[in-house]
Amino acid sequence: MSFLTKIFGSRNQRLLKQYQKIVREINALEPKLEALTDEQLKAKTPEFKERISKGETLDAILPEAFAVCREASKRVLKMRHFDVQMMGGMALHFGKIAEMGTGEGKTLMATLPIYLNALSGKGVHVVTVNDYLAQRDAEQMGQLYGWLGLTTGVNLSQLEHDAKQTAYSSDVTYGTNNEFGFDYLRDNMVYEAKDRVQRSLNFAVVDEVDSILIDEARTPLIISGQAENHTELYYKINEVPKLLTLQIGEETPDGKGVVEVPGDYTKDEKSHQVLLTEAGHDKAERILTQMGLLPEGASLYDAANISLVHHLYAALRAHALYFKDQHYVVLNDEIVIVDEFTGRMMTGRRWSDGLHQAVEAKEGVRIQNENQTLASITFQNYFRMYARLSGMTGTADTEAYEFQEIYGLETVVIPPNRPSQRKDRQDQVYKSSEEKYGAMLKDIQDCYERGQPVLVGTTSIENSELLSSILEKAKLPHNVLNAKQHAREAEIIAQAGRPKGITIATNMAGRGTDIVLGGNVAKQVQLIEESATLSDAEKQAQAKQLRDEWQSLHDQVVAAGGLHIVGTERHESRRVDNQLRGRSGRQGDPGSSRFYLSLDDALLRIFAGDRVRAIMDRLKMPEGEPIEAGIVSRSIESAQRKVEARNFDIRKQLLEYDDVANDQRKVIYQQRNELLEAHDMSEMMASLRDGMFHDLVRMYVPDESVEEQWDLKGLQTHLAAEWALDINLTGLLETEQNLTDADILERVVAAAKANYDAKVDLVGKESFAGFERSVMLQSIDSHWREHLAALDHLRQGIHLRGYAQKNPKQEYKREAFELFGQMLDMIKNEVVRIIVTVRIQSREEIEAAEQQLAQSQVENVHYQHADFDANASPEEMLAPNPVATDDSQAYVESGWKVGRNDMCPCGSGKKFKQCHGKLA
Ligand code: ADP
Repeated sequence: MSFLTKIFGSRNQRLLKQYQKIVREINALEPKLEALTDEQLKAKTPEFKERISKGETLDAILPEAFAVCREASKRVLKMRHFDVQMMGGMALHFGKIAEMGTGEGKTLMATLPIYLNALSGKGVHVVTVNDYLAQRDAEQMGQLYGWLGLTTGVNLSQLEHDAKQTAYSSDVTYGTNNEFGFDYLRDNMVYEAKDRVQRSLNFAVVDEVDSILIDEARTPLIISGQAENHTELYYKINEVPKLLTLQIGEETPDGKGVVEVPGDYTKDEKSHQVLLTEAGHDKAERILTQMGLLPEGASLYDAANISLVHHLYAALRAHALYFKDQHYVVLNDEIVIVDEFTGRMMTGRRWSDGLHQAVEAKEGVRIQNENQTLASITFQNYFRMYARLSGMTGTADTEAYEFQEIYGLETVVIPPNRPSQRKDRQDQVYKSSEEKYGAMLKDIQDCYERGQPVLVGTTSIENSELLSSILEKAKLPHNVLNAKQHAREAEIIAQAGRPKGITIATNMAGRGTDIVLGGNVAKQVQLIEESATLSDAEKQAQAKQLRDEWQSLHDQVVAAGGLHIVGTERHESRRVDNQLRGRSGRQGDPGSSRFYLSLDDALLRIFAGDRVRAIMDRLKMPEGEPIEAGIVSRSIESAQRKVEARNFDIRKQLLEYDDVANDQRKVIYQQRNELLEAHDMSEMMASLRDGMFHDLVRMYVPDESVEEQWDLKGLQTHLAAEWALDINLTGLLETEQNLTDADILERVVAAAKANYDAKVDLVGKESFAGFERSVMLQSIDSHWREHLAALDHLRQGIHLRGYAQKNPKQEYKREAFELFGQMLDMIKNEVVRIIVTVRIQSREEIEAAEQQLAQSQVENVHYQHADFDANASPEEMLAPNPVATDDSQAYVESGWKVGRNDMCPCGSGKKFKQCHGKLA
């Protein structure tokens, strides 16, 4: 420990020394800047911009820019950045986490790197934990940026599209982590480039970085919704396959060949595909027209009927390829898939591409329109996309390892402007919670009588309410905050430092607002100064009176010992305890803190109870007496470390699995963005189309083959049936003598191209490109959604397989990769098929089809981020996560025994006894 501290300590000190040197440079610039007029100072911004555009780096400009920002702040905000704030600002600029105590002025500190980085014109995102703080900080600090000639925007969740775009195009954008993340996902679901709101992710300053990147990172952001409801259509189309016949091949009497008995469709059991024959196609059109699903004279190949064809094929597959009690069973009015190889029921799993609904229609059970994940991302993967990421908080040090490991963020501990005088007292541990609450009440009452303000931190709302009722009985006036109304609670917490103030708050409540001893007068003074009715003299007099009053209250509180913190329970993580303590002793203020615990507390019960009880028994502690000993505090701390380590594992697991999806998401999103920006799609289409027909032709006419090996008739039929391309290939043999396989390939490719060119000529390049874009985006989106569901199933199921000696994470990666490849093939295939077969009559028609595709394909869209529950009990925290449960089942099911010293089968790289063996 001391050895490590030495290393880290010295690294920290080295950095601080470097920063100090730059601070001296900045300070040396101050006299010259002070002499400038406002106009001259403001002119610095365009000057810096100019220099940057000529190639000067931000690092080189840093000292001057920081000096200018500080000088402007003195004039606009009446605050001069402290030297330690300069140092913190540098840590942020260099992409690190600045740990600075509460009340040290992180908001103001951040303006330095924000100003500097905004000069690049690429945008800076300032990330806060709630909308209230985003708005407050943007308003206050926005005055400074505005004065310096930069724009500020606030990105709130309820903003209209245009307002959002404006917020993002500002030099500095404030907003919450959720909103930034959801905007990113939404931007990758649009159908037109102009609908996107974000710019590229350049520089982010994350406030309360531990809350956002650690606590909230345990659950991903998810956008979900339901596919459009087509229930009626599924039931109706279900009638069509019954009227169509299968085309069968029959052996000729001599056994030498096969003759085909004509029918409406063919099927290929191996690839689970069906195909309408030409006759079948005509027949299906007639049936659909009679049913009123297809307008008179319309064709299934019309652009407007793309989705109808999709449904028809799904129904046909349901009838021709999937059989009850073989591929699925009907159970409780539901279709349950049966695994072909193992015969096991795959409850909860669904076929994709509308097949499941088609089977539901066929069996006459209710068609389920299930919720689908449309897009999802973890905070880890979102924030890692910023070219430069930085953060600030009062409590990062205990999690420095995780920040480094996962985000590559180094933590720099910045010394306080003035050393804290807070006294942190030893924990008191009682045998029962009644005794504990009794002792707490005494402490609070004592403070109240002496006029000292108290902040009581609880771990849950219930706990807050319990305490509130105890204080009520004792007739002690108090406020209760539950982190529900951010703005109102900020007001209350700002006044929590008045004499006799008692405030009960969960640890999330009033975050980001500091507690001034004697109460906060700044706000009241501001109201007076803004008053329209008062004269200047009156304003001054009233403000002075307020300040004097405040000064006397302030002195009173200081004399009483400053703000006292009472902790009702130790939290699962030391960091959160430190957050609570950090509320007191700001800016060199006096203060004190004490945690009250009992053996009934969940953390003690689970981890340290027996040990502490034994100590208490040995010491023969009488009832009502607390134990207050270093050995107890150490037991508790080690319990906290255990929970912290476990939470780290959960986050890491989530990330490791999300990394696979993340790489794929990047590919898909990049494709999408290229499509959105492309004006001309013909080249891309040509390459897709040529590849497709190349493969198709080679199935019938192998490379470098001779006429005897060709199946021109087969090829011709296939082209006509599946691609609506009528090419007289068999005729060619008669008219052309030295026909080679390459010639045939060329003919087919040329015919497909001619078909394409004719369509483009008919409706114009631009209209057709718009249609192509919509077709591709639609295809990518729907396949990607289904792929996400498939990955989900895969992840849940991978542990259940008998995978003896295989690493589930590796298996997951391998299969996910395979699925992804298949998905890309399906997209290509679908897109080419639609573009080649679509029949177009007019430009209006194609534009209408484009619109139809671009319109939302989903309804009931939800945005979810399961809120991190900082108040979850250790029991909840320790409920084995799903992945862990699956692991332990997996080796039981396969009868595979793991030795305690073997590697854990979950792939963590740890020994079994230190990983899931421990949990079991
Ligand atoms: P933190 O976020 O670090 O807890 P805040 O940003 O809320 O702290 O700032 C705490 C208080 O200190 C605010 O009222 C702010 O106006 C004030 N403050 C910060 N820096 C300075 C400074 N350099 N000079 C004067 N007051 C400052």
